[in-house]
Amino acid sequence: MTRLGSQGKEFPMMNLNETAARHGFCVDRVRESEELHGQMVEMHHKKTGAQLVWVDNGEVNKTFCVAFKTLPEDSTGVFHILEHSVLCGSAKYPVREPFVELMKSSMATFLNAMTFPDKTIYPVSSRNEQDFLNLTEVYLDAVFAPRILQDPNIFYQEGWHIELDENGAPLYKGVVFNEMKGAMSDVDEQIYQKTLDVLFPDNCYGWNSGGDPKHIPDLTYEQFLRMYHRYYHPSNARIFLDGAIPLDKVLTLAEEYLSCFDRLDEKHEIPMQKPFAAEAEQAYEIGAEEDTADKTMLTLAKIVAPWSDTVRITATEILFDVLTGSNDAPLKKALLATGKCQDVSMSLDNAMAQPYMMLTLRNIADGSEQELRQMIRDTVQQLVKTGLDKDALTASINSSEFAARQPGEPSGLLRCIHALDAWLYGGDPMQPLLSEERYQKLREMAAGDGFDRLMAELLLDESTMSIIRTVPSHTQGDELRAEETVRLQAIQASWTDADKEALRVQNEKLTAWQQTPDTAEQLATLPVLSLSEISADPLLIPAAEAQCGAAKVITHDLPMNGVTIMHWYISLTDFTLDELKCLSMVADLLGKLPTKRHDSLSLFQAIKRDIGKLTFQLRVMSRCAEMATPVLDVSCSVLDANVDKAAALVREILTETCFDDRARVQTLILQLSEMAKQKVISDGHRMAMYAASATMSAASAAREALNGLSACMVQKALAENFDAQYPDFLALCERFSKDSAVQSRVTFSLSTNKALDPAAILSAYPVGTPIPDAAPYVSDLPAKCAYRIPAQISFASLGYDYRRAGKVYSGIARVMSNILSLSYLWNEVRVQGGAYGAGLNTNETGRMVTYSYRDPSPARTLGINRSMSKGLRDFVAGDERIDKYIISTVGESEPPLGSENQILVSDENLLCGITPEDLCRERTEMLSTTKDALLKWCGVLDQMAQDGGVCVVGHDGAIAACEKEDLTVL
Ligand SMILES: [Zn+2]
Repeated sequence: MTRLGSQGKEFPMMNLNETAARHGFCVDRVRESEELHGQMVEMHHKKTGAQLVWVDNGEVNKTFCVAFKTLPEDSTGVFHILEHSVLCGSAKYPVREPFVELMKSSMATFLNAMTFPDKTIYPVSSRNEQDFLNLTEVYLDAVFAPRILQDPNIFYQEGWHIELDENGAPLYKGVVFNEMKGAMSDVDEQIYQKTLDVLFPDNCYGWNSGGDPKHIPDLTYEQFLRMYHRYYHPSNARIFLDGAIPLDKVLTLAEEYLSCFDRLDEKHEIPMQKPFAAEAEQAYEIGAEEDTADKTMLTLAKIVAPWSDTVRITATEILFDVLTGSNDAPLKKALLATGKCQDVSMSLDNAMAQPYMMLTLRNIADGSEQELRQMIRDTVQQLVKTGLDKDALTASINSSEFAARQPGEPSGLLRCIHALDAWLYGGDPMQPLLSEERYQKLREMAAGDGFDRLMAELLLDESTMSIIRTVPSHTQGDELRAEETVRLQAIQASWTDADKEALRVQNEKLTAWQQTPDTAEQLATLPVLSLSEISADPLLIPAAEAQCGAAKVITHDLPMNGVTIMHWYISLTDFTLDELKCLSMVADLLGKLPTKRHDSLSLFQAIKRDIGKLTFQLRVMSRCAEMATPVLDVSCSVLDANVDKAAALVREILTETCFDDRARVQTLILQLSEMAKQKVISDGHRMAMYAASATMSAASAAREALNGLSACMVQKALAENFDAQYPDFLALCERFSKDSAVQSRVTFSLSTNKALDPAAILSAYPVGTPIPDAAPYVSDLPAKCAYRIPAQISFASLGYDYRRAGKVYSGIARVMSNILSLSYLWNEVRVQGGAYGAGLNTNETGRMVTYSYRDPSPARTLGINRSMSKGLRDFVAGDERIDKYIISTVGESEPPLGSENQILVSDENLLCGITPEDLCRERTEMLSTTKDALLKWCGVLDQMAQDGGVCVVGHDGAIAACEKEDLTVL
């Protein structure tokens, strides 16, 4: 953590009052808080009523956020389109996309905007004070003086417009339109939206705040402007500051904008929805090759509490963990035991005025709904009678509290979002940030029968419970596409000649605007740091290496605040590529099956009770093109007092897991395979990147096998042919458990402030047989492949390894990637192609890979990927400055990391043989990159265009359109 301790002393109350008054603000309240490591200052702007909260905690990474309460009145996604649009130019910064310009030129550690069901927030953060002030000013100008008020092209580009294709057929285009088509391809997103629709018919939460693609085109530019004026106003604004910010300077900037407005009296209240019971049904798309039998998702939903009842809200989350946190948790176990459903999950959405719960049963057997609902009633009644297991409650409370106290990064932004959970509704912004008192009340509640009563209220009282059925369909996707075509054809048929001409002119103007680069004067309006303000030295995380018995040990000396973090990196080089594909499942089973000492429920509880966080992940370390080192990373964060218990549990899980519990393994594999299916749709760009690079190096082959489509396909095959394949799978699991967790294959990483001898932990493992440090892996995927998904959108990737073109790594490669991602690919693939995202990733391991995200036309994108050397040459010939890209490349290479991720990055560097000298050289290379030096990478980009691997993850139509690529469909 980069905290400097409380800075409260430097701003005594009187100075605060004076500073505030000088800028038209009035201080309302100042409170010290040990839990916040400082004080919270609340003020308001006298003229407009704008509210401001500052968490003055000395955090080096400074955060600014302006939030507006934005309450939808339909599903046109107006606030989502506004969120995108205000970042497309403003009065002081009349460039097409200041947001992108800032990504190119700033050291921002966070820079984005988000639309929620009842608010829109604009947060930025940076460690560099001048950079922080620059970002703050650009964001204030964006929200209070955007160019959208004068220029409808922004609305057409970000929202929607109609274009005619080469055959004269009309089609919708627009960034948000496409983004939401992608979002609505995800069955979980569909369940979420339908639940909101059913639960909240009478207030803003019933609408799709992101925008439903069916309704986005209902929005006119005039309506859009009206909503802007009503909601983007200081009287409806909340400004949140976090960290060691220069208050006087920030208030000067804020005042400059706020004082231009008069107070607006429209109060945006959210009427509370009266709870009731309802039923609804919707369809979701499944693949043509899948059977529709037994694939219905059943959701039970209800409103839980008003936002102010934080104890009940957190208690509900804990209750859900006790009831369904593992396959052996009582409610989930009872439901799975019926054999009538494949998976069960419970969740609570609390970022709103009326948090609500969902209990979702996945893939239920046709005709079994009543039986399953009766099973819920019976199980809960029985649990109410006997009372919930106290140990289970303690375990879940402990792990929830550990998570609440280790908020992760970006911590300033997370504090902002939490504060709004009360602040937005007129409550105390400090209340959601404090957890001590809440957890004390929860422990009292657990000691009595509070959780039993809560369970009865939430699950037995059906008078306010709604039921949502999400049923599979082979035709849903086609129907949606057909509906859209019919709608567009009707619109086209209604056009008069004048309409046609108007549209032609409108689109011509739009294209002209999109293709006109910003002038040098326009670009010069944006504040840019100078290269001299950038540190020539990278942030290095101290690490020491040693040998301990047959194991390697890495230690980190960092301030740890009473928490110990341990990693066991277990080498897997003795497994073949095919075996690696199965090992992803082995990692997912660890901790979820019984061991020789614990049944699976008591193991689950022991992990929750004694360990803060325990994960099993597969990673690949690489030092050269032909060889790679796949490892299982067992990562454990624990309070210092519980280190011994945690170490013993980890050893037990690694060496004594009962993989022969066949029934439990089968249930878990079915659930994993189902989750993998969803992941390919939501994370398609990652899958495409793994596959496109797989044939390029040993590390890429191993990475694909462990995390990519190959792993998903192996999971699917095992789920479908479990009886035939289980014996081989079991043999692999047992080999892993017998041979792998041994000293000679482990690198142990320890970060603690407690006096702790790693030998005490490692001596519990046998020495074992050493294996090679690295192994050669060759992918069996075709170099050019495609994977079909039932979705409205696609993903494309072109992958390469620059070492094939004889190039060695240089920091220049990162600058080049950044330039191509933020200029050429951004313009061609996102702005003009309508994909939600696009980029090129290059790193020190040789990997060079493009991606597109939620892409309407992957064939076109691949063509653009192949002309990146032209993009780079154009950049070199143009007059855009290179130093701003250097600044953002450096900024991007140093994201704010909590201690957990700092340790991981440092460990990975050590395991890949990247030295502090390498990192210093990389920094020097980045800082001294010239346009001429970039040209030397054009040849590599051309080689990549010619010899690179390709993968398209998408629907049939999108894959068919890539016929020239000659893709093998997997
Ligand atoms: Zn968006």
